[in-house]
Amino acid sequence: MKRRKILKLSSGGLVALPACSSQKGEKGSKVGKHGASSSEYGDQPVRLGANTQYRPPAYVNKGLRNPNMNLPTQFTGESVTHSRGLSNQPYVAMTFDDGPHPQNTPRLLDILRTRNIKATFYVIGSNVDRYPHIVRRIVAEGHEIGNHTYTHRKLTTLSNSELRREMRRTEDAIVRAAAVKPRTMRPPYGALFERQRSLVFSDFTYPTIMWSVDPNDWKRPGPSVVRSRILRGAHNGAIILAHDLHAPTIDAMPGTFDDLLSKGYQFITVSQLLALKGQA
Ligand SMILES: [Zn+2]
Repeated sequence: MKRRKILKLSSGGLVALPACSSQKGEKGSKVGKHGASSSEYGDQPVRLGANTQYRPPAYVNKGLRNPNMNLPTQFTGESVTHSRGLSNQPYVAMTFDDGPHPQNTPRLLDILRTRNIKATFYVIGSNVDRYPHIVRRIVAEGHEIGNHTYTHRKLTTLSNSELRREMRRTEDAIVRAAAVKPRTMRPPYGALFERQRSLVFSDFTYPTIMWSVDPNDWKRPGPSVVRSRILRGAHNGAIILAHDLHAPTIDAMPGTFDDLLSKGYQFITVSQLLALKGQA
């Protein structure tokens, strides 16, 4: 009996080798298949928006947690510019501009994930081309991507064709990186003439998204100031502006999110905010 067991074990060990390698092979072929199709996004249907159904694993949930927001993300409407949502529900949209950043954005994504918060990232196209894997992670974890131009120039100084090129190059970079199409845009420095907003809306279907809460975090006033400015400014339907380019902004976020959650605010994406607005 004992001898048999040993034999079984040793034969099991021997058997385990080919089994393991064949498993590896299967896994490898899966990855290869996926890799082949994902490297040619032209074959993939391009989705609008992000995977908002993503739910983080329950084990990371130790503190305050945003509820699952099963809201529509499809919006229509005539409005070319939005700077807030409806005021009759405690929804806020957190927006982060100028990324992705190789260290700060992943750190922010971890903070968002533990709280089940979905945000909207207005990414710069040139950064998308540098860090496409971070854009893929943003989308995979249920956040939304918006267009923040390719070179972050002041758009009011550009011709119409230069403006279109800024939008197009960025949209193409986002589709290449993550196979999603941005739904909205935010102009760098908030600078975009009315006629330019109409052009971007008709040519790209992007509404221009401004904001209603600005902590001026890019001036680096320190994490506690960023946190208190956001808390003081928060209101139903707020679109909150911040930048995942700056480490102190990321430092401010755990406390900021927990403050807002404990005040009863719920976080949704910009598209969800617009969809609710469209239904009203
Ligand atoms: Zn910016």
